[in-house]
Amino acid sequence: MLAALARLVLDAVAPLRCAGCDAVSDDAICADCATAMGAMPLPPIRRLGHGSAFAGFEFVAPVRAALHRGKYRGDRQALRELAAMTSSRLRGPRLFTPDAVVAVPLGPRRRRQRGYNQSEVLAAVIAEDRDLPVLDDLGRIRDTPPQSARDEATRRGNVDGAFTWTGSDLGGAYLWLIDDVLTTGATVEAASSVLGRAGASLIDVVVVAAVP
Ligand SMILES: [Zn+2]
Repeated sequence: MLAALARLVLDAVAPLRCAGCDAVSDDAICADCATAMGAMPLPPIRRLGHGSAFAGFEFVAPVRAALHRGKYRGDRQALRELAAMTSSRLRGPRLFTPDAVVAVPLGPRRRRQRGYNQSEVLAAVIAEDRDLPVLDDLGRIRDTPPQSARDEATRRGNVDGAFTWTGSDLGGAYLWLIDDVLTTGATVEAASSVLGRAGASLIDVVVVAAVP
């Protein structure tokens, strides 16, 4: 608690720093990092059970650091920049315009701890950039332990039944499911299954970064 308070005070008086490289910068992501990120190749499209996954970047520096700051250190502006860059990089013939976007929800405990859901921040920017509605009826019944600590089979069992849809029938809608990082895909597959059962016909996953 004291450490968190000290961090708040320090952040208030310290110069703004780039979320990607920690250089002093007026922008959430500095010009050097933005240039480096612009030169990165787009990750390959990954096939999933209900559609495909599209990532703006590989999960490497400086994207990894910027996502980390956005997720664990409250740097929502870094998330907004990452979302805007991702949306811009995914423009083109590879990805069709959906009927709506949906953010992967956090479990209630993690949401309380963090104070916000990083995927909702990303989804809001992408939706505004593409002039799309955001659906907020996808819920998460329970928190799941961090994915990185578990093996593949455990991960899948771990997220089964974690999500619920509380909205009306999706009537064949084409959706983008928005998340920050794609690892095994177990989380987005579980969420997509729920959206599919709720009537979505196609669910493509859009993430800032994919772990190769
Ligand atoms: Zn930088």
